[in-house]
Amino acid sequence: MASSKIEICEVGPRDGLQNEKRIWSVDERVELIDRLSATGVPRIEAVSFVNPKRVPQMADAEQVMAKITRPAGVSFAGLALNAKGAERAIEAGVDEVRYVVVASETFNQRNQGASIDETLAGFSDIADKVSNAGLKLSATVAAAFGCPFEGNVEAAQVARIAKQLADGGCVEIGVADTIGSGVPTQVSEIYGLVRGAVGPDIGLGFHLHNTRNTGFANAAQAVGEGVLFLDSSVGGLGGCPFAPAATGNIATEDLCFMLRNMGYETGIDIDAYVEVSKWAEGFFDSPLPGQIMKAGLFPESAA
Ligand code: MG
Repeated sequence: MASSKIEICEVGPRDGLQNEKRIWSVDERVELIDRLSATGVPRIEAVSFVNPKRVPQMADAEQVMAKITRPAGVSFAGLALNAKGAERAIEAGVDEVRYVVVASETFNQRNQGASIDETLAGFSDIADKVSNAGLKLSATVAAAFGCPFEGNVEAAQVARIAKQLADGGCVEIGVADTIGSGVPTQVSEIYGLVRGAVGPDIGLGFHLHNTRNTGFANAAQAVGEGVLFLDSSVGGLGGCPFAPAATGNIATEDLCFMLRNMGYETGIDIDAYVEVSKWAEGFFDSPLPGQIMKAGLFPESAA
């Protein structure tokens, strides 16, 4: 039976801001993270230790980590794509290091500048460092539901990559619908094959985007499969409203509303989350995609 608890990993400060045109200052990013960590969310992907020339939105991760408050019970993750990034993450004091492998060869080449096999080999370079530092080691299998260059991605390929990550010491794996093309039947197919490949002890989750409005259907399917965690972003941050194919993550507070009314626990104060979304929205010229911040909770909002 599926657990009644779902762990939300807030990725707005990383995946969200990374995909917004406006570059947030260190102090703004710190305030966003501090506001989020006060809502009861247990896990925040706060920073990325990638080359700031490639991703200027994520520069100065060390400063962000040094300035945020660290409430008890909240885990802070940093993304690292290579050994140098992992060393920076450990030095900066993250609780979790997240690695990324893209499930399609073309996209992985473009994103990581290496083949999938080379990227998997690179994981072993960082695994020992992270484990020896006593930190959680996790990974995301990106573009697992579809690739913008190659089209369909085989679920068996996602499972093959997941198994290699698990064999390499990864304790949690997130399967990402990076371009928001997935549908619920894919969630079940991928979950089944990945679970079969990695065994019962690896924590599995999904990282969902709402590009084609299937993100929440996919999330509902995922909790039915018994996932440990879901990634989402405050207000649905991350989809540039001026881009033709906006690719925001599913909005955390909308996800929490759905899960709460389905009978699942997240531990998150949804009203407090909506306040953070409204605050964050003030930095943009257009409304954020989140719907609960507009419609209100139900039944609370009923007359
Ligand atoms: Mg993403």
